[in-house]
Amino acid sequence: RQTMERKPDWLRISLNTGEEYKELKKMMRGRKLHSVCEEAKCPNIYECWSQRTATFMILGSICTRACRFCAVTSGLPTELDLEEPMHVAESVRDMGLKHVVITSVARDDLNDHGASMFAATIQAVRELNPLTNVEVLIPDLGGEPERIKVVLDAKPDVLNHNLETVARLSDKVRAKAKYDRSLSVLRQAKELRPGQTTKSGIMVGLGETKEELIQAMKDLHEAGVDIITIGQYLQPTLKHIQLQRYYTPEEFAELKEEGLRIGFAHVESGPLVRSSYHAHEQAEHAKNR
Ligand code: SF4
Ligand code: SF4
Repeated sequence: RQTMERKPDWLRISLNTGEEYKELKKMMRGRKLHSVCEEAKCPNIYECWSQRTATFMILGSICTRACRFCAVTSGLPTELDLEEPMHVAESVRDMGLKHVVITSVARDDLNDHGASMFAATIQAVRELNPLTNVEVLIPDLGGEPERIKVVLDAKPDVLNHNLETVARLSDKVRAKAKYDRSLSVLRQAKELRPGQTTKSGIMVGLGETKEELIQAMKDLHEAGVDIITIGQYLQPTLKHIQLQRYYTPEEFAELKEEGLRIGFAHVESGPLVRSSYHAHEQAEHAKNR
């Protein structure tokens, strides 16, 4: 019978609840909106919020897909809140964010898969917060260029779409997505808006080999991606896809070296790395190159 393995020491974090964090937490309370940072109980929340970075989830909390690594509830969503862009923009202002990541569940039920809501949210955030860096972490939007273009036309600072895993494991890990479609989303973003900073992420610990990981990195680089994040998969519950192993901090450092050798502008690789971890620095780094 499968049991959840004890986490290695490097995945334990100390709770450092500084003043800035407490202040932001207070501000978030009483608002209709929730950050992914809080809901996913992200271990980086103290660090990210102190650095004024946060991630918001738009388009509701129920996903039309059911990726086997993901803790988000799947089903048929009904929510579409047209005031949401403004609420996100106000939260960004109230939190005084320097970098915001806007992401969503997959909304395969909507005609445009939610592309126009991404665009509206980018615009609303911009209007209220002209100095804030805006990153969108988008679903694959069915790989349709018109939908990708709608998001790009709102000029996000960073367009992020996660590859999540290596080619061989893709169908098993996220049945309704496709490895090649994810690559094509990233490639199209670069073609449709030359100069657009693009980003992607991979989880490790699902049974992939080092060669497969390097191939995935090469595929991302070939698709024009500027920034990659590599983090440890943590199994949310026993029902989720089984964790095969924990990578050591040294292995993450090696993967970072590989990524830089392949040619990425920035590689964030570590046990607790998530798509939006150190997102602000990543974006600055890629921009300054
Ligand atoms: Fe929030 Fe992302 Fe930072 Fe986690 S890594 S606290 S989800 S911004
Ligand atoms: Fe989770 Fe995204 Fe997959 Fe939906 S599409 S199940 S939110 S990873």
